[in-house]
Amino acid sequence: MKQVGVLALQGDFAAHGAAIERAGARAVFVRDREQFAQIDGLVIPGGESTTMLKLLHYDNLMEPLAAFGREKPVFGTCAGAILIARNVFHPTQESLGLMDIGVERNAYGRQIDSRVVEIAVEPEFESRTAPGKLEAVFIRAPIIRRVGPSAHVLAEYRGDPVLVEEGRHLVATFHPELTSDPRVHALFLEKL
Ligand code: GLN
Repeated sequence: MKQVGVLALQGDFAAHGAAIERAGARAVFVRDREQFAQIDGLVIPGGESTTMLKLLHYDNLMEPLAAFGREKPVFGTCAGAILIARNVFHPTQESLGLMDIGVERNAYGRQIDSRVVEIAVEPEFESRTAPGKLEAVFIRAPIIRRVGPSAHVLAEYRGDPVLVEEGRHLVATFHPELTSDPRVHALFLEKL
């Protein structure tokens, strides 16, 4: 069975672990650099990207995480998407640059502007998983303002990309781990 790491420094890593197991792989909560050798892919969960960055530096995990992403698939949701992006603004922040996207943090407004909506997906997403709209939970979400030429949009909300892949990597600005629909995690498992 494939082993999927979930970065477990901060944020909603437990819900991602359960979602990975529902989608048919084994979840490994990653807190040490030695664990990168045991996993086939990694999820960076939602949470607070600034705090996660601090903890990554404190635990000396920035470099091993970037090295892992140069070889293996990484899936970032919300704060995880912010960490994976090439450019982060509002405010400007360091990131791993694994995907050629630019993101604006907290772009929908304050906590009170968090929402659960139904979004249409690209036919390609449906043909690679299963048909149907997606329920998308946005919690102080970023907006992907720039998508590089080799990145690929799989779903949008109000005209902005919310599910984007580039090669082996995937980002969602919403939280698929908080709904019972396994398709986004299943799509990531296909990349392992
Ligand atoms: N607002 C958070 C950030 O900027 C992301 C929120 C989330 O992950 N739900 O890092």
